[in-house]
Amino acid sequence: MVSYSPLFSSSPARWKQLVLSKRITIASVLLLFSLLALSEVFLERGISTRILSSLSFNAKSSDQSPLSCSNPFDPSSFPHHTPRPTYTRKANATFLTLARNSDLAGVIHSMKQVEGRFNRDRHYPWVFLNDEPFTEEFIRCTSAVTSAKTHYGQIPREQWVQPDFIDEEKATKARKALSKMRGVFYAESVSYRNMCRFYSGFFYKQPLLQDFKYYWRVEPDINYRCEIEYDPFLYMEDNDKAYGFTISVPEQKETTPTLWDTSMEFFNQNPQYLHPNNAMRFASKDGGKTWTRCTYWTNFEIGDLDFFRGSEGYTKYFEHLEAAGGFYYERWGDAPMHGIAISLLLDRDRIHHFDDIAYEHTGWEQCPNPVSPAYERGRCDCDYGNSMDVKWKRYSCQADFDAALAVPRIHAA
Ligand code: GDP
Ligand code: MN
Repeated sequence: MVSYSPLFSSSPARWKQLVLSKRITIASVLLLFSLLALSEVFLERGISTRILSSLSFNAKSSDQSPLSCSNPFDPSSFPHHTPRPTYTRKANATFLTLARNSDLAGVIHSMKQVEGRFNRDRHYPWVFLNDEPFTEEFIRCTSAVTSAKTHYGQIPREQWVQPDFIDEEKATKARKALSKMRGVFYAESVSYRNMCRFYSGFFYKQPLLQDFKYYWRVEPDINYRCEIEYDPFLYMEDNDKAYGFTISVPEQKETTPTLWDTSMEFFNQNPQYLHPNNAMRFASKDGGKTWTRCTYWTNFEIGDLDFFRGSEGYTKYFEHLEAAGGFYYERWGDAPMHGIAISLLLDRDRIHHFDDIAYEHTGWEQCPNPVSPAYERGRCDCDYGNSMDVKWKRYSCQADFDAALAVPRIHAA
């Protein structure tokens, strides 16, 4: 008689043996994985640090509920002081939001902040731009948050995509190389580069902005943590300001290795564009030799479109950078580009630090000092201790901006 052992025995002893051996296999696999994970933490700390930092960077400040249109704007969640400021006039101005359809929840969050803290009294319109057509849902939901007019535009393809003269092989290599460096966000992203180039050279050319003088840039998932008790657009107009910012920070070396030299090449060849009372000291401590890397953090900006539209220097400077290819061969951002352009082309008295506006984006914030009237009047719910100029002072460029404003002015003879 041939004896054989069946593959799946029904005998209890055999079953027990099988289950036991399976448990041992699962336990060894788990052990192996834990060992691998541990060795990664100890041997290659870089990987875990990079994952951690990208997690905290991507942590958004909005509640992230899938609000769509179902969660309408509730003004009572923004208790206003009474009486409200009275205004007798309005500026020719608009909010400006570049967004993907997938940014809808974050855009609605930001709109509620802006409407709640300021615009429900003022009814300034909104301009939304996208490289793709906006969905019907995006239009319906965003227009439901504001009582003001909303406008939706699609960016022409040639102002968005990587231009043909860029050597794609070289660009791919550069992106790969950048992705190997630590702490560089969007290292491999082409769409991020498109966005930076768009905000550098093309935003002010959009037809929907042509009839407006001022824009106020609003990104998804931002917070205004105090009431805005005056009209910043009117402040710009009444004080002849052309550019306003809240936070200033240095740009990373890795993303912009040749931006300063390329910029200086342009300004050395075209010194006529340098404003005699510029804010060069913000960008350079040694008259242009080296760069402070300081930038105005452009996710908040209030600007005079007439300056961008009317400045031959700005357009030519952008064209010079564009021809050098650094938006794609490196990862030049719109913040460093605006930072250099604004600081060199404008009269520094036309640049304004809105130190009384409480603004937060991706965890970095400006909160007014509690001893300032802005804090109490604004019913702020931010912590001054978390402010850029307190907690993250080493990353702030405020001292460079203050130093730039302190440079003696040149008076015409
Ligand atoms: P970060 O603040 O530097 O992390 O960059 P964001 O991801 O917030 O992008 C900056 C702005 O550009 C935001 O208003 C985004 O909604 C917008 N944006 C970024 N990438 C794209 C894109 O590929 N298409 C469109 N339409 N908007 C984009
Ligand atoms: Mn952002």
